Amino acid sequence: AARRGAFEISQPTEFVKADYASARRDIALITLALFVAIIAVVLLVMRYNLLRPIKELLGGAKAVGQGDLAYRVVAPSGGNEIAQLASEFNRMAESLAEQRRAAERQAEERLALERELRHSERLASVGRLAAGVAHEMGAPLNVIKGRVEMLRERLDAPVDNRARNLHIIGAQTDAITDIVRQLLTLARPFNLRREPIEPARLIAAVVELIEADAMKSGVRVEVSQKDHHPDFVEGDQALLRQSLMNICINSLHAMANGGRLLIEVAPEERRKNGGTFVGLRVSDTGSGIPPENLAHIFDPFFTTKAVGKGTGLGLSVARRIVEEHDGWIEAANLTEGGATFTIWLPATPGDGRPGEP
Ligand code: ADP
Repeated sequence: AARRGAFEISQPTEFVKADYASARRDIALITLALFVAIIAVVLLVMRYNLLRPIKELLGGAKAVGQGDLAYRVVAPSGGNEIAQLASEFNRMAESLAEQRRAAERQAEERLALERELRHSERLASVGRLAAGVAHEMGAPLNVIKGRVEMLRERLDAPVDNRARNLHIIGAQTDAITDIVRQLLTLARPFNLRREPIEPARLIAAVVELIEADAMKSGVRVEVSQKDHHPDFVEGDQALLRQSLMNICINSLHAMANGGRLLIEVAPEERRKNGGTFVGLRVSDTGSGIPPENLAHIFDPFFTTKAVGKGTGLGLSVARRIVEEHDGWIEAANLTEGGATFTIWLPATPGDGRPGEP
């Protein structure tokens, strides 16, 4: 039979085996290199397309957070999510800026409105003041005019008669002078001479001034002995004396038929706006204040007294003085009858430096 074919069974030589192994290594190396290259490219792409815009957005968030609403981030080109986020961010910043502008506009409008309101309030109080001045000065001026006419018509009137008229004219002039003086106290800017004042000394000075009037009306003046107070008050002696005296004089007026006037340092101190306040308290056994009047007694020219007896300026002057000292006055009725007023003044540590004797 003819030979048609043959099998060759051979074993690769050592050379071919080595070739094979190197080829495998090459493939592995190439695969690794490819892998590294792909990772590098991916990282690069991420850096440019993701990290940079995120950093930009972060910077924007920080700037906007710190109040720089004009800050805008640079949006990456293309319509991907990052680009959308960036333009959304810019829109948010714009809307925040718009809201801030609106808030500023509103605040300005409110301020202007308040200014206008204050102006019209001031005009109204000037009007009230003018009406009060006209009323309070009109009465004594009328009396003066009447008496002057009487004197002029009867030049030969008896001496006694003429002296009486002159006396009345003098008293009415004093009343007008008093109103003018109080009005000036209300109107002029104060130049406070602040110093530490021992409350007991202030009270003693006022007692001395009102003692004679109290005696005339049969009022017993008592000064509480409990007032060994560690704190002094800080203020202008002369003005505070006037303020306390105005309140005491009102009490005397309210006790025309006698009574008891107690002046003391309030046993308790008050704290307000981080400061400590000492109270000077005046309590009487007089008529008390009708509840409906309590809200008005500090208004200029509010008075319940007869013409010529009160100007309605005493308490408004007292309040102005105390408020200039950063203090305040409280008024109330006592349950047992009579009224009580407390002047609260800023305390200063009792440093042993007494005011003038
Ligand atoms: P005036 O004493 O000239 O009337 P004030 O401003 O001092 O003006 O007082 C206003 C009003 O407050 C008084 O007219 C009176 O009605 C009331 N008033 C003030 N103090 C007292 C008091 N101790 N007891 C009763 N009423 C008082």
